[in-house]
Amino acid sequence: MKISVASGKGGTGKTLVATSLAASRALSTGRRVTIADCDVEVPNSYLFFPDRSLLAKQQCLVSIPVFDESRCSHCGKCADFCAYHAIAVLPQTVLLFPELCHGCGGCSIICPEKAVSESTRSIGEITRAASGSATGKVQIVWGELAVGEARATPLIKMVKDLAAGTDGGEGDSREGKDIIVDCPPGTSCTMVESVQDTDFCLLVTEPTPFGLYDLDIALKVLEKMKIPRGVLINKSGIGDRKVYGYLEKRGIPMLMEIPLDRKIAEIYSRGEIFALKMPEWRARFAGLMERIEEMAA
Ligand code: SF4
Ligand code: SF4
Repeated sequence: MKISVASGKGGTGKTLVATSLAASRALSTGRRVTIADCDVEVPNSYLFFPDRSLLAKQQCLVSIPVFDESRCSHCGKCADFCAYHAIAVLPQTVLLFPELCHGCGGCSIICPEKAVSESTRSIGEITRAASGSATGKVQIVWGELAVGEARATPLIKMVKDLAAGTDGGEGDSREGKDIIVDCPPGTSCTMVESVQDTDFCLLVTEPTPFGLYDLDIALKVLEKMKIPRGVLINKSGIGDRKVYGYLEKRGIPMLMEIPLDRKIAEIYSRGEIFALKMPEWRARFAGLMERIEEMAA
């Protein structure tokens, strides 16, 4: 099972849900659960597992062209070719803007002087850790995008590959049976990359007009991607009933409600997993995973 937890807007409680789902599942079934934190600009799932032990760290390397000025005739063909405007050819030199480069390799193919070769550079770091026994067999894999980097999708892809054990490397993440992908907020390419290839997407929303607006966009994206989906309403009791009416009208299953509750907020703000601190919620989240499993099947 690979489940993505996403939302059209930030601050709806994705991480609260992802960490509670993972720990409840791991403790109730004894299975290994891996959280892939793809919110690579501000990853925070790992903070909820303070007893974690480090398993591995690695850089996310992407291709980048290197220009040999001694061969270059400054013809400008590479700059004309580059759809991302990552190259500027001046009379005496070639300038590369690495943050704009998508590593397509086209400039090295197009160069008539064979003046372009390929190298790599790091756009961020990925860490894998295992939680302690209090939270069950949970692994956390998270990426941290380097400051100033514009492209997060290669890092997100690598986080998911490592969590799934499909990166070709060694590591006990291969034993993972269930993967919970904590997605970045919004509906841009980073969200699309994160939910891609997941068996089910759980959308977390608030019952407010803003929540409804972003939920509608996120659901349309998931429909296009043909990913089975359901909705969890967080902070129920605030706002209005329009989200409920919308879901009913569209036949989208509402799988859980979490009320706006001071106790839950206090537990979360202390960096603790609320489903483990409030046992009745642990059973509900374990049940939610089972229901999602049935729906995805
Ligand atoms: S295509 Fe090759 S020769 Fe022409 S400007 Fe680019 S690097 Fe130089
Ligand atoms: S590798 Fe592709 S994206 Fe990068 S500079 Fe060359 S043509 Fe542009």
